[in-house]
This record gives sequence, structure tokens and C-alpha cells, in this order.
Amino acid sequence: MKHVLLAVSGPSGVGKGTMVKTLISRREDVVESVSCTTRAPREGEVHGKHYFFLSKEEFERRIAENDFLEYDEHFGNYYGTPKSFVRETLKTKSVIMEIDVVGALNAKKTFPECVLVMVVPPSVEELKRRLSGRGSETEEQILGRLARMDYELSHKDEYDHIIVNDDLEKAIADLMKIIDGE
Ligand code: 5GP
Repeated sequence: MKHVLLAVSGPSGVGKGTMVKTLISRREDVVESVSCTTRAPREGEVHGKHYFFLSKEEFERRIAENDFLEYDEHFGNYYGTPKSFVRETLKTKSVIMEIDVVGALNAKKTFPECVLVMVVPPSVEELKRRLSGRGSETEEQILGRLARMDYELSHKDEYDHIIVNDDLEKAIADLMKIIDGE
């Protein structure tokens, strides 16, 4: 079977993380991509499993060597998907990256075979209401999140597949079909 690289995006709170993790727990031939980052490991994070933790110099050297499918800066640190890891893994397994719209579209530019999947909620209004009611966040954080959601959804048409996460099991089955059908 042909192995594929899948980029899964979608607004925060839509359940894409649960979909990806459940699918991977059921399929030995599908793994999650491991990104590189320059941020410090958090408690319990393992090098090579959660991230490859690199120094800024090492990360910049690899940018210069063109070893990233895509990379970006978040909160003052670099994050990127290493081409070497993805290429090596694709020889035996399919690879899923859970990534934002900017990262996914950049990855598609460097690796056109990358299949873009966006997970959307059955009702945008309902998800917005739910995210606004989380309680633990300031007004500003909530507004930022909602704006981000509109931004992500505005790129829907650039995606190869859209999955509506109405029913988790059905959404996981849809994702499997995409992997097996590509
Ligand atoms: P954290 O430090 O909380 O693990 O991640 C911070 C942010 O970096 C999250 O928004 C996460 O999605 C993003 N991120 C993680 N890995 C990558 C990557 O390989 N590429 C890009 N563009 N963003 C990433």
C-alpha cells in the first residue's frame, strides 16, 4: 500500500487531536509526525517522541540545509516539520501532522503530495459559543481564538478534504478512508 503524508488542520476545540490520536492507536501503519522545536522540553516530554529539541543554531543550520517541509515561529521559538523524518517514515508508514493552516499550506508547497484535511465543526456558531464559555480565559484570549477560527475556516477551499466532526467514530472512519484511498 502507498503511504501518505496527511496534514490535519481545523479550529481549536473541533476535536482533531482526539481523532488523530484515536486513529493512530488503532493503526500500526500510521504515525504522528515529530516536529523539531527550539523551545525547552516540558516535564515528561521525550526527545524524539514529543519533539526533537534543538538549539537555535542547530535549527537555523537545518533551515539553511533546507531540511524543513515547513517551519514557523510561535511565542519566540522555532517549530518545524523535518523532511528527513517524514521521508524516512513514509517508506514504511503513513504520517499525520496536526498543523495550522499556515503550516499546512507551506508544507503543500514544498511537498505537493501532502494531502490537506480540514476538520470542521457541524456548527461554527455552536463551537464559538462553547469556546467563549470556557471560563479560564480573558476576553482578549477568547476574541483572539475566535478570530483565529474565522481565519482557519476561510482557507477551507484550499484543502483537499473536509471532514465534519459531528460524530467522532464517523469522523475517524472518514479520515481512515482518506488515508486508504489516496
Ligand atoms: P507547544 O509549544 O505548545 O507544543 O506548541 C506551540 C505551537 O507550535 C502550537 O500552536 C503548535 O501547533 C505549533 N507547532 C508544533 N509543531 C509545529 C510544526 O512542526 N510546525 C508548525 N508550523 N507549528 C508547529
